[in-house]
Amino acid sequence: MTSTLDRVMIFDTTLRDGEQSPGCSMTQPEKLRVAKALAELGVDIIEAGFPAASQGDWEAVNAVAREVQGPIICGLARCSRDDIELAAKALRDAERRRIHVFLATSAIHREHKLNMAKEEILRRAVEGVKIAREHCEDIEFSPEDASRTELDFLAQVVEAVIDAGATTVNIPDTVGYTVPHEFAELFRYLTKNVRNIDKARLSVHCHDDLGMAVANSLMAVVAGARQVECTINGIGERAGNCSLEEVVMALRTRETFFNAATGIQSQRLYPVSRLVSSITGMPIPRNKAIVGENAFAHESGIHQHGMLKHASTYEIMRPQDVGLARSNLVLGKHSGRHALRERIKELGFELDEAEFERVFIDFKALADIKKELFDGDIEALVLRAEGGEAGPWTLGSLRTSSSAARGQATVSLQHADGTVVERSAAGDGPVDAAFKAIESATGVTPSLQKFELRSLSEGEDAQGEAVVYVNFADRSYRGASVSTDIVESATRAFLEVINRIETSQSAKEHA
Ligand SMILES: [Zn+2]
Repeated sequence: MTSTLDRVMIFDTTLRDGEQSPGCSMTQPEKLRVAKALAELGVDIIEAGFPAASQGDWEAVNAVAREVQGPIICGLARCSRDDIELAAKALRDAERRRIHVFLATSAIHREHKLNMAKEEILRRAVEGVKIAREHCEDIEFSPEDASRTELDFLAQVVEAVIDAGATTVNIPDTVGYTVPHEFAELFRYLTKNVRNIDKARLSVHCHDDLGMAVANSLMAVVAGARQVECTINGIGERAGNCSLEEVVMALRTRETFFNAATGIQSQRLYPVSRLVSSITGMPIPRNKAIVGENAFAHESGIHQHGMLKHASTYEIMRPQDVGLARSNLVLGKHSGRHALRERIKELGFELDEAEFERVFIDFKALADIKKELFDGDIEALVLRAEGGEAGPWTLGSLRTSSSAARGQATVSLQHADGTVVERSAAGDGPVDAAFKAIESATGVTPSLQKFELRSLSEGEDAQGEAVVYVNFADRSYRGASVSTDIVESATRAFLEVINRIETSQSAKEHA
């Protein structure tokens, strides 16, 4: 990388803005896994959460601050002493930390949400930054709904917070309303009209309501932004945030146009994308840019012909640049440790010895049932091994039988306290019967919302992933499991849901 390129910081908010979106909530161990993967990916800043939002959020930010090295760890706070002190405390043990304070500035938010005049907004923004500076040198300020704020007032706020000690000023298009040219003009206006603008780094934060989050973010970079806020797979409120993999690969592929570069290890994009998708249960559309299954697939004969002669005829990026190392290579019963290790590496995962050994045992067990193991199978084994138990119950045994439309199931569950519970139930088919037996054994009866099955690889003996969505006590939960046996993966997915419910209920009792 030549030194003439300007560095654009990548600020990942998958764990804050992404996690906030419906159906994307993560447990603390899951957040930690994502944070570690983000550190390996090379993001500059991880926004780990909003510590004042809940006890769970505080604990997750604190855990990331303690355990994740490399990136700056950031926590969000409103402009209030309580919020800022909670954030500062959660971030206390981070190697490098940042407090991110925000306050809405647009007329619509001033009048309808905050009921504050301009002077009051200005005063509180400055005060928030000053309180944050008591705890930390690295302070980011966001004027929420900046893109709908009067330009002169926005400039006034930005100048005041920089004077108060903000080192990064982020300009959010909170409602996904702006368009690329207009947004670039806004950045140029600030650069021209804010006296002390060179004392802070300008940042951009876009939402995708009109499908322009990435385009708007790139135009902000053209107009001087040197930090982009984004999420893996673009997950986030409503239509989502700017997608990290898209903005990073646009900057990289068109490096000479943007004259800017990021510190992202792009060959880790695909594995991180798969990890976040598997944890949040948010599927990646097949045609999604960069990480979709079809992103590098060429169907048309003319394209294929050109590709065979020279890849660059139709390919602007190489699949391996984003960590996509798909092959038709098949592993099986006789494949040894070395072959598996190499394949896992090529798929972009890095496992420690203990994790690898767990995967190898599962691999051997699976190879006994299933003759040929494809990339999808290996990925599923790895993602599962990195997981770990979500709660108190484990499945001891499962027996099912079915005749016509009726099903019968007997489950034996073991609780972490040592008790073993066995229950039988009847239902509409074996899956329904197994769910009922689990409900009877655990005493938890959630209402089932959705049940999905999908094949992860090829062949009649392909592994199936079962995903179960339920509601319980006004919250939604999701569980997933992979097996070559559909009834078993459904049962395990349902048990994961029960475990998540029990874990979150006991967290509530202790909070
Ligand atoms: Zn946002």
